[in-house]
Amino acid sequence: MKNIILFGPPGAGKGTQSEFLVEEFGFVHLSTGNIFRHNILNKTELGVLAKKYIDEGRLVPDSLTINMLKSEFLKYSDSVGFLFDGFPRTEAQAKALDEFLGQEDLKITAMISLEVPDEELLSRLLERGKSSGRPDDANSEVIGNRLRVYHKETAIVQRYYEKQRKHIVVNGLGSVEQISSVLKAEIGHF
Ligand code: AMP
Repeated sequence: MKNIILFGPPGAGKGTQSEFLVEEFGFVHLSTGNIFRHNILNKTELGVLAKKYIDEGRLVPDSLTINMLKSEFLKYSDSVGFLFDGFPRTEAQAKALDEFLGQEDLKITAMISLEVPDEELLSRLLERGKSSGRPDDANSEVIGNRLRVYHKETAIVQRYYEKQRKHIVVNGLGSVEQISSVLKAEIGHF
């Protein structure tokens, strides 16, 4: 069983590449961003709480995010493997993930980081904002905030997996197909 974290800044291509990886490996795809947006759409209590952070491009508090992700994870105990997308984004989340995987006798196989320069991310997100319907993609101030939060609070999580020798970096520039085949090859090695 392979449990992969697809990591990277907003706009790196995590969502797009996740679709290919799910098709190839049959992963259960757990995207915290998607789950939050689903809750916002359905106006759940969690959605209402999360919305104000997401609209400002800030991280949703750890306790809320971890509890939500853990209960999603527990729904798929018969999975052939998990693809975590957008989680963990803090060291506390990384530790919690290890803990709740460990309770099911599971562990993270690898964290794969998609690397893309900020200028490219900014232009990709502004472009995506024209059609994604996501308020956090439509506003350059919010996008700037999300990139700042990534560099200040989230990028450091890579160290956690480097220390465990589980961190792999993949160039996120190039065609969707090229990047997808590199990712498939990397995951195929495990
Ligand atoms: P994403 O779709 O991954 O870009 O996430 C959209 C927004 O959801 C982020 O800008 C955060 O506000 C929130 N979010 C998603 N995942 C997390 C997480 N692991 N921790 C905290 N906030 C998150």
